[in-house]
Amino acid sequence: MENTYDVIIAGCGAAGLYGAMNLPKTCRILLLCKKELTLCNSALAQGGIAGVYDSPDDSTELHKNDTMIAGGFKNNPETVQILVESAAHEIKAILDMGVDFDKTPDGNLHRTLEGGHSRHRIFHHKDTTGEEILNTLIRNVKTFPNITIMENSMLVDLKKTRTGFSVNVLKDGECSAYHSHFVMLATGGIGRVYEFTTNSKIATGDGIAFAYENGAEIRNLHLIQFHPTAFNNHHTRECFLISEAVRGEGAYLLNCNKERFMHRYDERLELAPRDVVSHAIALESQATNSKDFYLDISHKDSEFIKNRFPMIYEKVLEQGYDMTKEPIPIYPCQHYLMGGIQVNSNSETTIKGLYAAGECSNTGVHGNNRLASNSLLEALVFSRQAALDITEKLNDVPDEFEETVFPVYEDAKPLPKGMRTEIRKIMQSSYFVLPNHATLLDGFERVKEIKKLLNTEHFIIDSDYVEAKSLATVAYIILKEVI
Ligand SMILES: Cc1cc2nc3c(=O)[nH]c(=O)nc-3n(C[C@H](O)[C@H](O)[C@H](O)COP(=O)(O)OP(=O)(O)OC[C@H]3O[C@@H](n4cnc5c(N)ncnc54)[C@H](O)[C@@H]3O)c2cc1C
Repeated sequence: MENTYDVIIAGCGAAGLYGAMNLPKTCRILLLCKKELTLCNSALAQGGIAGVYDSPDDSTELHKNDTMIAGGFKNNPETVQILVESAAHEIKAILDMGVDFDKTPDGNLHRTLEGGHSRHRIFHHKDTTGEEILNTLIRNVKTFPNITIMENSMLVDLKKTRTGFSVNVLKDGECSAYHSHFVMLATGGIGRVYEFTTNSKIATGDGIAFAYENGAEIRNLHLIQFHPTAFNNHHTRECFLISEAVRGEGAYLLNCNKERFMHRYDERLELAPRDVVSHAIALESQATNSKDFYLDISHKDSEFIKNRFPMIYEKVLEQGYDMTKEPIPIYPCQHYLMGGIQVNSNSETTIKGLYAAGECSNTGVHGNNRLASNSLLEALVFSRQAALDITEKLNDVPDEFEETVFPVYEDAKPLPKGMRTEIRKIMQSSYFVLPNHATLLDGFERVKEIKKLLNTEHFIIDSDYVEAKSLATVAYIILKEVI
């Protein structure tokens, strides 16, 4: 049948691509990608991927313990166990696909340290690990004859049917319906619900909104990680991240007086987990009445800095700062979503046949705060969990596909300007590192109004409208959880 697949996967980041590759070669898969394949959070990951692989001085128990400590012991121990135990399998798999991790002079894989890790266990490709992993996955997935990739094709609606799911896909201004027995949402994070974020512009929480509209459980959307060290150029929405690994390699955090201050907040100093460091910066900002903060690694050898952080060095230099010689301005900004679409340890949501993996999902591995470099690992481990579970169920699906027809409205109008900007301003002012209780309630009421308008009136189905609806839904759920 035309437009029918065994599995439809929305999202082509680490989770979507790796999930597709772990399904059987006999399985017909449609991979949807909202923009081009390289535009996603996975491509932006710098620091690396955590895991215990060929590391005699480390253990999965230690990795689990560090993950639980960073998460404030609010993590799900069962999924954390799966995460740390599967790491060796996933790291080997991507090495076999051709990922080129940095090596030590004696030819072993180089492992770096990041905040919250008690061992050097971060595998990396210089400071562009995500790009290296994503490009390798893309190269490999393109060789799979059973996988159809549709770029610039946006999931704009999802409906459960008697036999599985129907999805509505927008491509070149036209909507078409596709049908499958299983759907995997791998649509990434929600960073664009904030004014300032490290996230790619695709991160508008679309999958979370579709899951919510279909009645799937969403959990802990308010558990948002604010990265402490984004380059402080608060004129552009997408803030350039200064990787955790820079602190891991010995950089100091300085306040507006160019003094170290972390000793006043945490004994782990600059290597405290992200939430602790972001809170410390917010409190120090109140104490000094200044938003000027710096990261300083200039006391390290300049050739080492340039070689270890070539991309960061170049990007910061473009902005007029030589990090080998001077401190660079930083400030916290939205970075990562810990919560999401609730899934079990097989990555199945509360809706049968609907799976979620990667940043849009809530596996519970991160607890209250993600340990650095655990998210690429989570994307790989739990998209494979989904693939394994779907594989087991493929034989039990019906031979037919019930097809939903998506409505088309003659009276549909263009989306009024400014809605997304307004939502972002509300989120930035009311729920940043330290929540602002003075604006939370009014912000929630306004977001509720916008969401209602977007859901009840008929607007032309384009990416602006769908993303505005996703942002309104995500902002609504976050604020509802915290008020
Ligand atoms: C700057 C930065 C640095 C980071 N560094 C690290 C690090 O060092 N280590 C680490 O472990 N993690 C890091 N992370 C986090 C990590 O990169 C992400 O959590 C992870 O890559 C998410 O993968 P994903 O596949 O879930 O989502 P993404 O890689 O964001 O992919 C989402 C995909 O969904 C598609 N999509 C979205 N909506 C739709 C729609 N409606 N229709 C169709 N397709 C859609 C997008 O086009 C995209 O292909 C970093 C993140 C950022 C932003």
